[in-house]
Amino acid sequence: MAKLTILKEGEATLRKTCRPVTEITKRTKTLLDDMLETMRHADGVGLAAPQVGVLRRIVVIEVEEGEVLELINPEIIEASGSVSGVEGCLSVPGRQGIVKRPSYVRVRALDRNGVMQTYEGTDLLARCFCHEIDHLDGHLYIDKADKFLYPAEDGEYYDDED
Ligand code: ZN
Repeated sequence: MAKLTILKEGEATLRKTCRPVTEITKRTKTLLDDMLETMRHADGVGLAAPQVGVLRRIVVIEVEEGEVLELINPEIIEASGSVSGVEGCLSVPGRQGIVKRPSYVRVRALDRNGVMQTYEGTDLLARCFCHEIDHLDGHLYIDKADKFLYPAEDGEYYDDED
């Protein structure tokens, strides 16, 4: 496995729409492996292919340690509720934001064997599905954040009013 470079806000690649994966090849599986390693190394809970410069609809998520979700051509097929919560992005270091997301989503995606799977997520996992799938259409959470939080010396994040 190899650690990949994570693109940062301002890179044009992050604003492009990704194409669907039409065939799952050895390269696709290597990319999934490399994305997982890259995400873990960066202490993230989700990573989308455009963040490592690949314009394909591929996402890895690990909200619960050891529970890795690999999503190829993911689609949100159901969403409900609405909740504001803190969100960050490996492509936007140094700040977090408050973003409104559905509290429940159902997602359909191919796994690495080309089998269609359905996943349900609430709270953080629902947020993560939405955030990562947004990346595939060139959207960053900073486009929809209600406000931003910045880290202080103690490592905690504070908003502008504190
Ligand atoms: Zn992100």
